[in-house]
Amino acid sequence: MSKVLVTGGAGFIGSHIVDLFIKNSYQVVVVDNLKTGKKENLNPNAKFFENDICDAVALENIFKEERPDFVSHQAAHASVRESVEDPQFDAQNNIFGSLNILENCVKFGVKKIVFASTGGALYGEADQIPTPENYPAHPLSPYGVAKLTIENYLFYYGIIKNLNYVVLRYANVYGERQDPFGEAGVVAIFSQKIISGSQPVINGDGNQTRDYVYVGDVAQANLLALESNKTKIAYNIGTGMETSVNELFKIMIEISEKKVKEVHGAAKEGEQRRSALDFTKIKNELGWKPKVALKEGLQKTCQWFLNKK
Ligand code: NAD
Repeated sequence: MSKVLVTGGAGFIGSHIVDLFIKNSYQVVVVDNLKTGKKENLNPNAKFFENDICDAVALENIFKEERPDFVSHQAAHASVRESVEDPQFDAQNNIFGSLNILENCVKFGVKKIVFASTGGALYGEADQIPTPENYPAHPLSPYGVAKLTIENYLFYYGIIKNLNYVVLRYANVYGERQDPFGEAGVVAIFSQKIISGSQPVINGDGNQTRDYVYVGDVAQANLLALESNKTKIAYNIGTGMETSVNELFKIMIEISEKKVKEVHGAAKEGEQRRSALDFTKIKNELGWKPKVALKEGLQKTCQWFLNKK
């Protein structure tokens, strides 16, 4: 039985990845500091270490004790806004913490690491939509810079230390367990507000677009990337489709069957107007494609928020 260490395995995306690995007979070890992750997200069949990836000594001990075959690196402080407010904190967590992971992967002979990067925050305001992987990466936030930095470190570790890796650049991931209270995705925020009877507010004119990909499809991409013989490569994980916030709001109202007014607030300064990722590369090379259509995924998500109420 192969063993995989999942960082951030108590978080939104990481916990779905953990569930899928366990379903596929992997032994799973989770490292999470529970900063935004939750114990209730943790699969009871995973071995849990409540540790920070920035704690080099603790992390090395975990690698020494567990000797994972694979690493799925999902832990990050995933807030673009906070990275703008405090770039040092973002770098400390997302760059130096990740470096600890990469060093241990080399030291303990990990067969492959899959790294959760970003598509939306990497390409900036692209003039090619859906955007392919070879579009120039010029991130416009410290969070995006940190993700690109780790991609560059992986390139170095790949060449010089022969570390096998796959980078997955996620679009806007949504689904069950997304936290509606941090700097969460709009789907979680709207779901929570609609269900609790409070008024959702659309920022600006609502014509800004994003590529919404269901968390179950993202977990599937992680499993495929880990098991494939592809290495030292980056793939976009999205649907290739743009959906405006106005459209998203309308679908969610329709699903909830509630009467909710469409209210617009001030536009967020510097907010990206359009984003969608071209997933042709992973479709051709690994046979991955998003299986859950937006309406179906939104139904599942709203149902989850309803059950949780
Ligand atoms: P999340 O906040 O739910 O998950 C992150 C997890 O990492 C949390 O459980 C948190 O407690 C843990 N963590 C953070 N810093 C840590 C540290 N220093 N040590 C140990 N654990 C730590 O966020 P998410 O949306 O599930 O994001 C997962 C990954 O996907 C992140 O790397 C994020 O940057 C990336 N990503 C997410 C999206 C999205 O739409 N949600 C898009 C692109 C990329």
